[in-house]
Amino acid sequence: MNKKSLLSNLPKVDEILNNKKISEVIKEFPRRTVIDAIRSKIDHIRKMILNLEEAELEQFEIHIDNLVSHIVSDIKKRNTMSLRRVINGTGVVLHTNLGRALISQKILKDLVDVACNFSTLEFDISTGKRGSRYSHVEEIICELTGADAALVVNNNAAAVLLVLNTIAKGKEVVVSRGQLVEIGGSFRVPEVMAQSGAILREVGSTNKTHTFDYENNINEETGGILKVHTSNYKILGFSKEVDVEEMVILGKKYDIPVIEDIGSGTLIDYSKYGLAYEPTVLESIAKGTDIVTFSGDKLLGGPQAGIIVGKKKYIDKMKKNQLTRALRVDKMTLAALEGTLRLYLDEAAALENIPTLNMLTMNREKIHEKARALLGRISENLNAMDATLIEGYSQVGGGAMPLEKLPTYLISLSSNRMSAQDIEDALRLNNPPIICRINEDRVLLDVRTIKEEEFDIVADAIEGIDNGR
Ligand SMILES: *Cc1c(COP(=O)(O)O)cnc(C)c1O
Repeated sequence: MNKKSLLSNLPKVDEILNNKKISEVIKEFPRRTVIDAIRSKIDHIRKMILNLEEAELEQFEIHIDNLVSHIVSDIKKRNTMSLRRVINGTGVVLHTNLGRALISQKILKDLVDVACNFSTLEFDISTGKRGSRYSHVEEIICELTGADAALVVNNNAAAVLLVLNTIAKGKEVVVSRGQLVEIGGSFRVPEVMAQSGAILREVGSTNKTHTFDYENNINEETGGILKVHTSNYKILGFSKEVDVEEMVILGKKYDIPVIEDIGSGTLIDYSKYGLAYEPTVLESIAKGTDIVTFSGDKLLGGPQAGIIVGKKKYIDKMKKNQLTRALRVDKMTLAALEGTLRLYLDEAAALENIPTLNMLTMNREKIHEKARALLGRISENLNAMDATLIEGYSQVGGGAMPLEKLPTYLISLSSNRMSAQDIEDALRLNNPPIICRINEDRVLLDVRTIKEEEFDIVADAIEGIDNGR
């Protein structure tokens, strides 16, 4: 056959629409998705024909059944959400690329209620007048942190921006050189400072900053003393940081507000549960810090948010700043945050029901038990694959507790038919995707971050991959 007749033999969109399999599919998916998928497949084949060499023309055939099944799988692919759940087998509890903290199932109903219905977002039920969206969480944040006032914005980066812009625009802010951190590539203290209109006054050295370094740099232009938690790295050895307590003494002496970007921000003392000590917001406020900012979706275990707590006179000024409107949070965020914070009223319940807290404090026996259960499910029907249980470490992630190694159990997979990379690819392309890591040519799945209700999905996927399905 020549190119011309091959091209004229190409099926038409209408012909394929009449195919029995496609008419089944069209009941389930939007018609335009189906037509788009058919069109692009036909287009693709047209291009293939145009690129064929003379010698290849003879063998070229179009199998309608094949074509249709390709189109059907393409339709299904087009119809899956781009933003969707994955199974986290990496053992990184706060995985920024995988959505950081998980919202507790316990508050699902409250969240859906607010999202899908009209709500009290900015309406005061007792007076029938306009209310404030921030009122829903302010009281409980104050109760849990001991602060006078609170405000919630889009994320901690926004919180720091708003604080500096409100308190220190056009003025100098003193910061230790050891705390000019970059977090996750996009948050850099010097750049956020520049955006806010405050002027960075670096003091001390990279490894050591003393109280006198701050004091020697305070002058009539100083608008704030800032402490930044070096969340994702540690300076070990010959180093010194000044405690907020000493900064507060300086702040009082010169009448300058002390601001702490505490980063992750925790409401419970993780060291009670065998983890590294991470400064709590409550302590910072108790030491007299004027303003503290922290993230909602790191160790707190809530939605993405930036929480600002501190003295009422400063928070009131921030509420009036135009920037607040641009950085404001959505009702879904507020509902998730209020729900999460309410769980903290009972610490045992918080540990049980907030997934981040639960995964971080899960003890070895519990992880071992989970790992054995998953391994049991996986080993049932293995063919060329080998699955074993090994010991290893999980990570906190989210730039928090960078040195913390959490002992865990891993399922280690290998196959005499597939490389570790092939297995990792197949797991990642599963629906839902299963994300894991590779070490020394074995695929590792950390059970700390895999929920029990996900075991069947993981086991079925592995079985399918092993059997070439
Ligand atoms: C994580 C972090 C930030 C950024 O917080 P986001 O909520 O991700 O915007 C800022 N400062 C510190 C110290 C952090 O640890």
